[in-house]
Amino acid sequence: MEIIRHIVKRVWGYDALLPLQAEAIGAVLARRDSIVILPTGGGKSLCYQAPAAAMGKLAVVVSPLIALMKDQVDGLTAAGVPAAFLNSSLTAEERRLVEAGVLRGRYHLLYVAPERLVLPTCLGLLRRAGVAFFAIDEAHCISQWGHDFRPEYRQLRVVRETFPDVAIHAFTATATPRVRTDIATELALRDPAILVGSFDRPNLVYRVRQRTDRLRQVTEALGRHRGAAGIIYCIRRAEVDQLAEALRRRGSRAVAYHAGLADAERRRAQDDFITERADVVVATVAFGMGIDRSDVRYVIHAGMPKSIEHYQQEAGRAGRDGLPSECLLLYSGGDFGLWRSILMAEGLPAPGALPKLGEMYDYCQGTVCRHRVLVEYFGQAYGADPCGACDVCLGEIAVEDGSAALARQILACVVEMGERFGADSVADVLRGADTARIARMRHNRLDAYGLLRQQPKTAVRNWIAQLEGHGCLARDEGEYPTLGVTARGHQVLRGEETLPLLRTVARPARGAPSPAARPAAPPGLGRGATDEDLFQALRALRRAMAEERGIPPYLIFSDASLREMARERPTTEEAFLQIKGVGLRKLQELGPRFLACIRTHGDGSASDAPPAT
Ligand code: ADP
Ligand code: ZN
Repeated sequence: MEIIRHIVKRVWGYDALLPLQAEAIGAVLARRDSIVILPTGGGKSLCYQAPAAAMGKLAVVVSPLIALMKDQVDGLTAAGVPAAFLNSSLTAEERRLVEAGVLRGRYHLLYVAPERLVLPTCLGLLRRAGVAFFAIDEAHCISQWGHDFRPEYRQLRVVRETFPDVAIHAFTATATPRVRTDIATELALRDPAILVGSFDRPNLVYRVRQRTDRLRQVTEALGRHRGAAGIIYCIRRAEVDQLAEALRRRGSRAVAYHAGLADAERRRAQDDFITERADVVVATVAFGMGIDRSDVRYVIHAGMPKSIEHYQQEAGRAGRDGLPSECLLLYSGGDFGLWRSILMAEGLPAPGALPKLGEMYDYCQGTVCRHRVLVEYFGQAYGADPCGACDVCLGEIAVEDGSAALARQILACVVEMGERFGADSVADVLRGADTARIARMRHNRLDAYGLLRQQPKTAVRNWIAQLEGHGCLARDEGEYPTLGVTARGHQVLRGEETLPLLRTVARPARGAPSPAARPAAPPGLGRGATDEDLFQALRALRRAMAEERGIPPYLIFSDASLREMARERPTTEEAFLQIKGVGLRKLQELGPRFLACIRTHGDGSASDAPPAT
């Protein structure tokens, strides 16, 4: 283990291991099969990369994400670890070169796509070369109970058959016991060490809001993260296109990404984001698996996700570098119905799909600490109370006074109107609106007329949507959508059940504690320049150097490293080496220019870095 700590410091520049990394690395060194379950950002890669570097023999990494392999290999190479990959993106000539290198023992890590690994030629090659261990990344793909089943993973059984004496280590962020059992069975693991990390992501601030005006709410959130990287998820492609366009018109560097775009357009969007030419990706859920940018400062869901698993995974793409980041979820009662019709249209929904939708909606409506709900959902206990990092604990939402009466008034109004009208008409009646239609229908004579005269229409529409989400009102999508009261609604009407109706407190969301949220002063101010200015200058330098090398900026240094440089302002090589994420190779190759940039700022002379945008 001492050797490992030494290598981790020298190659990766980390002083300490993250929780469970030592245990996971220990299993690899002991050649004991293992299943390692750590959330996104938990540092799974190091668990197999560090022992591979220490053993100096070939470790084989199976990954479904072909798009990521090159980046991983570039990152390892930049840190001085010999690595290569084999997948369908290589030409025959490139493949031969890699294969020759494998046989000559040139690499410590070889990334292979599952469908390639199981080919007899590939297995034969690896047998001749000798393998230290196998690491199966995204191992939940093997299970039909995971959210991302891939049939080609099922064939990985052949690994154990072909290499009976080589240990297999499975890594995933999916926690359910069922998936875990599947992984062990399918890979034929022998008494695996099972290591399960904490599923809480303390650096993420969770917020949930009723969606009232999507563009305004999104823009407001973006204002808290100017110039920082973010992902905005929408349910439908059309929304993606509209929102991306609207944000571009407002000056955001936003790109759209969804399955309806041509391959080339999708690739360009992804590329723009990875290389920092774009700050914001507006996407359907199709985006994200292949993204390794660790400095995503916010993830906004402009519509409700279809399950808590999906939410955890998508929101989890924020803050992988451990720095404070925001996850904002905008939902409406309509999202529930929309998902239901999408699931129905796709054929018979998978068992559990509808209940999962319900759980997601309950989460949105919930008034319990978000960190707690998410962690407990995945079967773990949560300790911090209040968490200080969610809308509930920050006091940003409140239960409406007199919720119970309010719910009854709304439901009664729907009944009184004969269940033949939509949400808008119901809201008008409750608010005592003076419209020709109300006069014509004589709705102004109803008991419910004007009961909620004091309330803004958006609030009334909101409560109606909440009741729909709670399953008290059901929408009938005919020529004109109408609302009816369900059995549960009648229970509430009879007072047999009470439900909280929520209102967002008029307290502004405190900036996610991201320093990037502060309005940035012009960069390159010399003496007295703030950490933020220096950080921006370092970011610009990182982008320029990444471009020169043809690799994504995040492979140069993470935001976490740049922040530390901006704070500590090292001016000597020794001090620079103390920064987290600076290993020996990076010190040699990148140190001089980063040190120059830091010195320039400290001294007060002009910066040589290109201006930050
Ligand atoms: P996962 O695959 O579990 O999502 P990664 O392996 O991508 O996580 O690591 C997430 C982030 O944590 C990366 O930015 C990585 O550089 C960083 N990291 C990993 N191990 C350590 C460590 N021991 N100390 C500091 N940062 C680490
Ligand atoms: Zn909380």
